Amino acid sequence: MASVEEDKYERLMDLAKRRGFLWPSYEIYGGVAGFYDLGPYGISLKNNIINKWREYFIRRHQDMVVEVETPVIGPAKVYEASGHVENFTDPIVECLKCGRKFRADHLVEEKLGISVEGLTPEELTKLIRENNIKCPVCGGELGEVKTFNLLFETRIGPYESNKGYIRPELAQGIFVAFKRVLEAMRNRLPLGIAQIGRVGRNEISPRQGVIRLREFTIMEMEFFIDPKREECPILSKVEDVDLYILTQKARLNGEPPEKYKAGEAVDEGIIVHGCLAYWMVVGKKFVESLGIPGDSIMFEDKLPDERAHYSSQTFDQKVKVSRWGWIEIAGHSYRGNYDLSRHMKYSGKDLRVYRSYPEPVIRKTVKYLVNKALIGRMYKKDAPNVISIIEKYGVEKLYNELADKEAIVIDGYRITKDMIIMKIVEEKITGEKFVPHVIEPSFGTDRIVFATLEHAYREKDGRRILSFPRDIAPVQVSVFPLIEKDEKLREIATSLYRDLVDKGFTAIYDDSGNIGRRYARSDEIGVPFAVTVDYQTLEDKTVTVRDRDTWRQVRVNINRLPNLIRIGLGSKLPLEELVSKI
Ligand code: AMP
Repeated sequence: MASVEEDKYERLMDLAKRRGFLWPSYEIYGGVAGFYDLGPYGISLKNNIINKWREYFIRRHQDMVVEVETPVIGPAKVYEASGHVENFTDPIVECLKCGRKFRADHLVEEKLGISVEGLTPEELTKLIRENNIKCPVCGGELGEVKTFNLLFETRIGPYESNKGYIRPELAQGIFVAFKRVLEAMRNRLPLGIAQIGRVGRNEISPRQGVIRLREFTIMEMEFFIDPKREECPILSKVEDVDLYILTQKARLNGEPPEKYKAGEAVDEGIIVHGCLAYWMVVGKKFVESLGIPGDSIMFEDKLPDERAHYSSQTFDQKVKVSRWGWIEIAGHSYRGNYDLSRHMKYSGKDLRVYRSYPEPVIRKTVKYLVNKALIGRMYKKDAPNVISIIEKYGVEKLYNELADKEAIVIDGYRITKDMIIMKIVEEKITGEKFVPHVIEPSFGTDRIVFATLEHAYREKDGRRILSFPRDIAPVQVSVFPLIEKDEKLREIATSLYRDLVDKGFTAIYDDSGNIGRRYARSDEIGVPFAVTVDYQTLEDKTVTVRDRDTWRQVRVNINRLPNLIRIGLGSKLPLEELVSKI
């Protein structure tokens, strides 16, 4: 029997499909696993979530974080350099009887109830054999576990040889463009380069609805830092914020996550860099702003063999949802200088950054110079030839060999001691070049849309409500005439609706069905305020405003309505208190 929580998931998905939030893509052709459409309210919610992310990660940090847009398709070389062609793989196993293919680690995890993240194909094959795991569909024998590359391959232009890939993450476009952005931002670090866009991952057998997609949207930032500056200049602002962290040690001991202050986690070495901790805090606050409570958000430290090939520390940011428990909605990784170094190697371009020393350093170097004037006087027209012979022989070597001799004869020319001069040269060095290190918060937008829907979902008196935080609701206000058929009420309501739209609000007008049904529809879409034009409106120009969550109503003058909604959207105050603010 399905649990209550599972039912909740079913009921939420039913609502999400029925009300136009999301549904499986290509439905009329039977659907293709791993692809989801967002409908009118789904895309509106997603855009609001994206704008929130922009607010938290970019706008509030505009002195050091900028946004870019780079292509979805990249030439093969870029993904060879990044390591994805070699490493971006999942383990796959084929049924020898029916030919179906499965994600081997998931199959073993489901059968044995243990985590096998990071095991090699050989180790997985061994587990399958030892535990006699069979094809979950036909019961047939399973073959050897192999690796399957998740990159979607394409070709660029008409030539077969011009191989390209759909990006599996946004980072590589950023690394490749790093030097340009750095120059545009006046060569200063730290520098965050953010990007929001679609990625493709050819997942082996996605079965978790919107959680595991083959095409989805990522919101990501690469934060470039100078590794010599071990202190993070921005951490002090958030060092007292609590984070729930599941450390590697706690995981291995089967213990639950524990609360750490961000600063404390850095001091204790649980988080390897202050800036990694800083962006984890921002990530937590961003997710909280979507209506997901702090105790449903945690950070799990990945074990070395669970991490991506580029990472030296990764925390998965997870949120709790009813059907799947903790799901990963973001990865916070310390990517070191892996990517820039690889692109330097593969492109032959210098992607290093210049670091000035606080004080110039005087460096003394010994130089060995050929005394060209003397050689010119001695050898006249043969002088260039003699100089070239000395240089080929090695100026310093010759100087050393002449230490206890008057002269040496090379190729018939007599080279004397005074033909080479040793000089101590002082150089003023003002700085040096280095490859920056990178901290990356990377958020899966579609999973966040789902988690936001889940945490907004309520049931009250047998009705379903999406109680989004007001400022991310897909529609901000609905407008109804009380009686469907009354021309006068309809006229005022439509003109009010127009006026709200002109003032910049997202609104819906609804005059079909009885008023109770319209309120219910509005609640299911998650509209925070519902405005009704009734007969009293004709007398005193007031309308009722109903709160989605409390279902309580207030009357306000129609002229004051836009202000009430504007203030209401940016606040959590109950409607009655909002009225006193306008
Ligand atoms: P990653 O680069 O693997 O850390 O992915 C960044 C984020 O994208 C993850 O934290 C997930 O939230 C999300 N994500 C990864 N794979 C998928 C997928 N197949 N479908 C939907 N979201 C995903």
